[in-house]
Amino acid sequence: MSYQNPVFIPGPTNIPEVIRKACDMPTVDHRSPAFARVFKPAVAGVKAVLGTRDGEVILFPSTGTGGWEAAITNTLSPGDTVLAARFGMFSHRWIDMCQRHGLNVEIIETPWGQGAPVTAIEAALAADSGHRIKAVLATHNETATGVKSDIAGIRKAMDRATHPAMLFVDGVSSIGSMPFEMDGWGVDIAVAGSQKGFMLPAGLAILGLSPKAVAAMDTARLPRTFFDFRDMQKSYAAGGYPYTPAVGLINGLATAVQMLQDEGLANVYARHHRIAEGVRRAIAAWGMRPCAASSDLYSDTVTAVVVPEGFNGTDVVKVAAEKYGMAFGVGLGEVAGKVFRIGHLGSLTDAMMLSGLATAEMCMADLGYPITLGTGVAAAQDYYRKNAGEAAKAAA
Ligand SMILES: *Cc1c(COP(=O)(O)O)cnc(C)c1O
Repeated sequence: MSYQNPVFIPGPTNIPEVIRKACDMPTVDHRSPAFARVFKPAVAGVKAVLGTRDGEVILFPSTGTGGWEAAITNTLSPGDTVLAARFGMFSHRWIDMCQRHGLNVEIIETPWGQGAPVTAIEAALAADSGHRIKAVLATHNETATGVKSDIAGIRKAMDRATHPAMLFVDGVSSIGSMPFEMDGWGVDIAVAGSQKGFMLPAGLAILGLSPKAVAAMDTARLPRTFFDFRDMQKSYAAGGYPYTPAVGLINGLATAVQMLQDEGLANVYARHHRIAEGVRRAIAAWGMRPCAASSDLYSDTVTAVVVPEGFNGTDVVKVAAEKYGMAFGVGLGEVAGKVFRIGHLGSLTDAMMLSGLATAEMCMADLGYPITLGTGVAAAQDYYRKNAGEAAKAAA
């Protein structure tokens, strides 16, 4: 790896210089008002990014995986049933965690490359007349396959089935990069991490909680200590923390949410869409295709590129790292070797993306892929030329 090259993995993402500097600060007494001055704007900014007015934000020194654990242990009891679709490594790992916590997971097996199946979710809820299902778990952006799911559609399905289950959404690789409407979609818990759309180092689990999720704590009996929302709420009310907060990361988060809001969230999402679309044009020019089964499922933060028969996608990632000092993502689980992943989220520009596409082409040419150097780059250039400045116009 070269520290000069941007990374094209779907997290951790490139850290803007101003955010790195914001994380680097002297020790602050977290029981002093100085901490509250760092903490309050970070929380307010996260609320805006999550799209919530009614919800509250909790920040743990952890990662997205810790956020999943906090979501389930604060709201559920041993033996409770949750409903989840499995269609990639991250949806799989959340299911695995629930099972290890003694929850009964009703699993809807879904082919990798598809999204959360709204119709099947609705049918499962409609069949659950006794309301055993306490929560529906949905991975908004399946980072293993580059597939986005229709969270608004899942909420509508839950409402049509008049089912009282809570809706928990893993937004680790979507929040801050793709539209997310916590209140609008009726999300009860939204889980994010610091090192993806928020452009920070790993180290914070970022959660949004609805009033319904907060109320579920009254009866939830799964054990929790470090991740107890109540302890956090009590300390927040006093302007502090139940233990030592990651002050530098929280200061970085305040800067990150300010950057996102200065750019304008709509422009941030438009930029991600434009960069992603350039990547997809490049892939089509190579005669290849994304793992996502249809265009409505295409993720604007990561694309899993299906490699031709007889090739191993992991080799592309190896050559990129060893020969060109650039990072792409390997295929995980069922699609290991069958894809390589291009992460295109966080602090990225069209020009940075072109460098990634050019390098991917060199790696594939080195490995004897049937591609012509420059074809993918030209397709992306063409798209970026025609759409550059779109975001700036939208802001005007
Ligand atoms: C990265 C990721 C996670 C795991 O987050 P960590 O911060 O690595 O614990 C969970 N879900 C999705 C969708 C992810 O992309």
